[in-house]
Amino acid sequence: MFSDLKGRRVLVTGSTQGIGWAAVQAFARCGAQVGFNGRSAPADLGQRLQALQADGGQAMFLPGDLSRTEDCQRIVQAFVERFGGIDVLVNNAGGLVARVPLAEIDDGFFDAVHHLNARSALMTTRFALPHLKASAQASGQTASVILVGSVAAYTGGGPGAGLYGAAKAWLHNIQKNWVGFHTADGIRFNTVSPGTFDTAFHADKSAEVKAAISRGIPMGRFGQPEDAAPAFLFFASHAASGYITGQVLDINGGQYMP
Ligand code: NAD
Repeated sequence: MFSDLKGRRVLVTGSTQGIGWAAVQAFARCGAQVGFNGRSAPADLGQRLQALQADGGQAMFLPGDLSRTEDCQRIVQAFVERFGGIDVLVNNAGGLVARVPLAEIDDGFFDAVHHLNARSALMTTRFALPHLKASAQASGQTASVILVGSVAAYTGGGPGAGLYGAAKAWLHNIQKNWVGFHTADGIRFNTVSPGTFDTAFHADKSAEVKAAISRGIPMGRFGQPEDAAPAFLFFASHAASGYITGQVLDINGGQYMP
């Protein structure tokens, strides 16, 4: 399945661990040319590159803090220099930054949350746009931009996570504009929206709190990064989803049904 992803050029932001890293591994197993990113290189970078290659992919690591616009531009340029273009962009970089209640939010925290979750996806997409358009023109297949939203976009987020939830809702919404004005360029835009996933994102929670959250999920457990990976392959694949754009796919074990 997803055999058309072989050789496709896929850039996944914020992908040294968790959901992003599982996606990178899944793309490599499909034979894609994959770029993965984090603020700094993981200690085992050499082993990871070898493993991705052994799985069938070609891979490169692109260091960059995507809450900085110049880094968004730099990683797109570096990826294009290595692979000659971009066919698929996965805007996965994101996170809470911190949990801050409304009464304590200041300008710096507002900026940090929005720069990491909203502006990073906006600017990386902006810099990738001419390459995605060129990909569609040259290949006759749609190029794909995938955003990573959240169940928090619907629910408003947990304690101190209101700005995060709002930034994710911003992502769920802005793709509608991009669909309106860039479908003619041969680019599709879709969002993968995770529920509660067992990653570093929830490292601040005790086992008791995690068990209580699990009891509120119809499937009775947190998602694992591997539960989300096939959704990225699906939206990346022109053969699988070439007529699907502007959609949000919720992967949450039944936790929330919009
Ligand atoms: P994670 O903390 O395990 O991974 C976050 C990734 O983003 C890491 O690879 C990290 O290197 C990278 N990153 C963080 N800040 C960065 C920056 N400034 N520049 C570049 N890279 C940066 O979390 P995760 O759960 O795998 O989260 C992945 C995505 O899924 C995020 O967008 C997150 O908001 C979203 N999400 C997660 C959950 C969940 O429950 N885990 C739920 C909904 C949405």
